[in-house]
Amino acid sequence: MAVERTLSIIKPDAVEKKKVGAILAMLEDAGFSILALRRQHLSREVAEGFYAVHKERGFFRELVTFMTRSPVVIAVLERDDAVKQYRGVMGATDPAEAAANTIRKAFGANKGENAVHGSDSVENARIEIAYFFPASEVAPSA
Ligand code: ATP
Ligand code: MG
Repeated sequence: MAVERTLSIIKPDAVEKKKVGAILAMLEDAGFSILALRRQHLSREVAEGFYAVHKERGFFRELVTFMTRSPVVIAVLERDDAVKQYRGVMGATDPAEAAANTIRKAFGANKGENAVHGSDSVENARIEIAYFFPASEVAPSA
């Protein structure tokens, strides 16, 4: 299985609940290496750009307001099959439907406030990592 990278964002709800450490521990326990890590209060412009793919959706305004209300913690994760494996550790978008032992089951409140973001493909992971981190801030591939 190929070593991949993916982008994780610990969303405002989980940062407010002081679950950053618990979530990073779950990720390390699941075999991910944390290659880059930053706390950042997203501007509307940055949040809208990041979620541009959803701009026609009814929940877009609500999503941007949520993502900008307080700081997030953004991380680049690496392991074999990282994109799919991290989606598995995150759990379903709606925490009520998320499997046991997933981050969203443990810390998500509802479909909007669901604790974490994860890239949904290797190609989008590359785009999302570059959106937040210059190459000089991400450890080079082994
Ligand atoms: P993410 O992209 O944040 O990892 P996801 O890939 O599981 O989540 P998407 O369909 O890409 O889900 O939706 C992006 C985000 O928009 C969701 O994580 C959630 O915060 C929000 N969202 C999605 N659907 C709804 C909805 N029906 N109502 C409110 N917010 C929603
Ligand atoms: Mg998504």
